[in-house]
Amino acid sequence: MAYQAPVDDIMHALKTAAGLDGLIESGILGVDEDTIRAVIEEAGKFGAEVLDPLSVVGDRTGSKLVDGKVVTPPGWKEAYKQFADGGWGGLQAPEEWGGQNLPNLLSTAAGEIWNSANLAFGLCPLLTFGAIDAIELQGSEQLKKTYLPKMVSGEWTGTMNLTEPHAGSDLGALVTRAERQADGTYRIFGTKIFITYGDHELTDNIIHLVLARLPDAPPGTRGISLFLVPKHLVNKDGSIGARNDVTCASLEHKLGIHASPTAVMKYGEKDGAVGYLVGEENRGLNVMFIMMNAARLAVGMQGVAVAERATQQALAYAKERRQGRSLSANSAGMSPIIEHADIRRSLMIMKALTQAARAICLVTAKETDVSRRAKDVAERAAAAHRVALLTPIAKAFATDIGCEVASIGVQIHGGMGFIEETGAAQHYRDARILPIYEGTNGIQAIDLATRKLPLEGGKVVEAYLGELKGVVDEVRASNRPEFGRMGERLGEAVAALAEASRWMGGALHKSPEAALAGATPYLRLFGLAAGGVYLAKGALAAARNGSGAAGQPIAIARFFAENLLTAASGLKDTVVGGADSTLAIAPDALSA
Ligand SMILES: Cc1cc2nc3c(=O)[nH]c(=O)nc-3n(C[C@H](O)[C@H](O)[C@H](O)COP(=O)(O)OP(=O)(O)OC[C@H]3O[C@@H](n4cnc5c(N)ncnc54)[C@H](O)[C@@H]3O)c2cc1C
Repeated sequence: MAYQAPVDDIMHALKTAAGLDGLIESGILGVDEDTIRAVIEEAGKFGAEVLDPLSVVGDRTGSKLVDGKVVTPPGWKEAYKQFADGGWGGLQAPEEWGGQNLPNLLSTAAGEIWNSANLAFGLCPLLTFGAIDAIELQGSEQLKKTYLPKMVSGEWTGTMNLTEPHAGSDLGALVTRAERQADGTYRIFGTKIFITYGDHELTDNIIHLVLARLPDAPPGTRGISLFLVPKHLVNKDGSIGARNDVTCASLEHKLGIHASPTAVMKYGEKDGAVGYLVGEENRGLNVMFIMMNAARLAVGMQGVAVAERATQQALAYAKERRQGRSLSANSAGMSPIIEHADIRRSLMIMKALTQAARAICLVTAKETDVSRRAKDVAERAAAAHRVALLTPIAKAFATDIGCEVASIGVQIHGGMGFIEETGAAQHYRDARILPIYEGTNGIQAIDLATRKLPLEGGKVVEAYLGELKGVVDEVRASNRPEFGRMGERLGEAVAALAEASRWMGGALHKSPEAALAGATPYLRLFGLAAGGVYLAKGALAAARNGSGAAGQPIAIARFFAENLLTAASGLKDTVVGGADSTLAIAPDALSA
């Protein structure tokens, strides 16, 4: 089933949840609404016409290592060239390096479209954007001049090399070694695993950002430095030079995203791979976090992307497939399954979760823009705190629902969902990596509870809760019959989140293990409450405009509140009262 970019839904989320009109008026974005819509429409065309047709062939063929070279599926190289030629690689990059300096909000929205059309393709620019960000913010002038123009133009791609066999979530354990050289460069020795687009033939050069440890570095995460390691060295005149001492040893065989090459990378099998320090020695993790935070939001958007794609596919199937006779049928014979109440419920869940997660991600992207572009220092600082708070929620909530929605998509197809030819199974398989990479969702929940909740002595989360409550009050005051019990349910959800946040804040001091045991349900509660509120903002706007366009915002917001937000108080109970039983059986006994 062909993909169609949900331009109206995206615009609706931008205008209502992310407050596009106010942002444009303030001048922070530097673009008008027509430009934003035009770029999203163009991204939609590119996604539908170029990337979507390659998604299935990519899944079936996969990327392969042939005679030491990574070969991507048929059509991939041409599509990548079109992507680069179209200027998509430089959407949000600074003009100084050849980019278009468009807001993160817009490139995040475009990212949804590319990833919906073809998740395995979308990963390549996703990582390159992160690498550009890290080099731009922390690289030396020389590094910027040498690498950024080619990366922004899409002529070279970027990768992110953190993971090692014994260092996954725990990066403090990494052992890749860096040795200082007399000329100011470094030599890198070690093995990195699971490196996305670690090698390929789409571009002439690949720019690896690699975490490694200097011989005199302190142990743990405080002794990690970041290095730029090109696949090919670059000559003084900018031309491609000798091959660096970095090779792709093998590619992984995976559950999904088959076309995305996931590489084992060997650095320094001979004299050592030449590397250039990014930022300061032993401060590499801080720099990498720039890249990781950008990538975490982008991966959250991948969750939205796969959910949107699975929803479109399930809707199309449900309209065609006929089984049984629905209670409301007014013609003889079997009804399309979309008429059955249970299928309608499933489709509403898919739509509502997708739109809620999209809103959370776009709000996070907007705050990134404010944190970088606002004139007022205090406004920038507040927005940076908001980004810090929302990033783990955007990443984990959106990727969790990506899997759930893709799974419902398979279910709506019945047996055909389990058969590869419908494509529903591919979305389900592709979605499954999203809660794992860029920091597992368990790690995101821990980050939210232990680092983000205490930000500024708890004032960041307090201010956010205050904002959510403001929308709830507006919904209640509007007193519209078509809102049903939306105000009541939203009020309960935000109150539950406030109570769970208070409990979490206390538990972090008194009983940290209990807090960690409740971190994942806490994040889920956070995502549900925030998502419900953003949908309600959309409903309020639709009611004001007297229009039900853009995906029936009032009905979706009401459904979310009355059917999904009912979980909020249960999740709160789990957070505040579930730790004792979670931890009751000791690890040894659990495995007995
Ligand atoms: C397809 C694919 C692409 C990838 N791309 C890249 C890439 O481009 N670059 C890169 O560097 N890496 C990449 N990765 C690696 C990925 O980021 C890691 O797999 C991920 O961070 C988890 O690390 P791990 O696999 O070692 O799992 P582990 O760290 O071993 O975790 C196993 C489980 O234990 C949990 N856990 C671990 N520590 C804790 C803790 N302290 N408290 C509670 N629970 C914990 C985790 O949540 C997880 O559920 C990729 C992986 C895959 C599969």
